[in-house]
Amino acid sequence: MSGCVRLPADRVDRLADLVAGGEVVVLSGAGLSTESGIPDYRGPTGALRRATPMTYQRFTGDSAARRRYWARSHLGWQLIAQASPNAGHRAVTGLQERGLLTGIVTQNVDGLHTAAGASGVVELHGNLTRVVCLDCRTLSGRVELDRRLTGANPGWSASVDQVNPDGDVDLPDEAVASFRVVDCRVCGGRLKPDVVFFGETVPPDRVEASFALVHQASLLLVLGSSLTVMSGYRFVLRAAKLGVPVAIVNQGRTRGDVHAALTLDAPLGEVLPLLYAAAGRTSPRRSLVRSPVTPARTARRPGPKT
Ligand SMILES: [Zn+2]
Repeated sequence: MSGCVRLPADRVDRLADLVAGGEVVVLSGAGLSTESGIPDYRGPTGALRRATPMTYQRFTGDSAARRRYWARSHLGWQLIAQASPNAGHRAVTGLQERGLLTGIVTQNVDGLHTAAGASGVVELHGNLTRVVCLDCRTLSGRVELDRRLTGANPGWSASVDQVNPDGDVDLPDEAVASFRVVDCRVCGGRLKPDVVFFGETVPPDRVEASFALVHQASLLLVLGSSLTVMSGYRFVLRAAKLGVPVAIVNQGRTRGDVHAALTLDAPLGEVLPLLYAAAGRTSPRRSLVRSPVTPARTARRPGPKT
C-alpha cells in the first residue's frame, strides 16, 4: 500500500534539520515494524482485527484463556522469530551511530531495534523473546519454550485451519482445547511472555528512564505510533510541557499531532532512509545558522513548571 505515496520532500528536509541538531530521543511504535511483516493492530493495516486483546487479569485468572493465548501465540511466534529489521530500523541505528540520538524508547516487543544493531533500547512493553514465571519470576528464553511447546503438542499445528496473511491466527475451539500448555521448569508455575499486557502497568524503572531521556532531549521523534495508549502518549505530553519540540512520522493521524512541531504521514521504511541521508548532509553548523526553524538548540527550556 506504500507504493503510490508521494513523499513531501520539504517536510523531510525540515525534519532532517531538526534531527541534525542532535540530542534526539526516538519513541517508536508498531508502525515501524509493519514493514517487517509484524501486524499493527491499531494502524491502517490492522483495522482492529483483534477486537479483544488479552488482559493481564484474564491471562492470570482464567486457565482456558491462558491456553487460548499460548495456542495462538505458539503459531504467531513463528512470525516474530522470522521477522528481520527493515530499512526504518536500520536508519534509526544509523542516526544513533552518527551520534544524533541520546535514546531509543520503544513500545514494540519484537526486539527489532536491537536486531538492527541499536544499543541501549528502552523496551517499555518488554520483549517477546523472554518468558517470565508469574510465580517465581524466573526468566527464560522463548526459543526454549517454543521447543517445549512443540514437544508437548506433536502434530498439533496440522490441526489448525489457517494462518492469516498478516500472521494473525484464528483457531477453532477444538484446536485450542487440544493444545497443551507447559509450566515453569523451576516451580511448576504459570508462564507468561515477558511483555506488558493490557491492564498491566509498565515497570516504573522503564518509565523513569524514558522521562529522564525526554527531559534532556532537544527533539522527541515519534516513529510509527498513533499514540493511542497512554504508555507512549505521556512522553509527548511531557515533552510539550517542557517545551521540547515533537516531530511525528506515522501513517495516519495521531493523538499527538496537536503537540507536534512537524508531522509526516508516510511509510517509515521510505522516510527514514531519506531522513538519514538528509541529516548527514545537514551539518550542525547549518542548523545553528537556521536556528529559527531549529528551536531545540536555541530556545532551551526552563525546568518543569508544575
Ligand atoms: Zn516458576
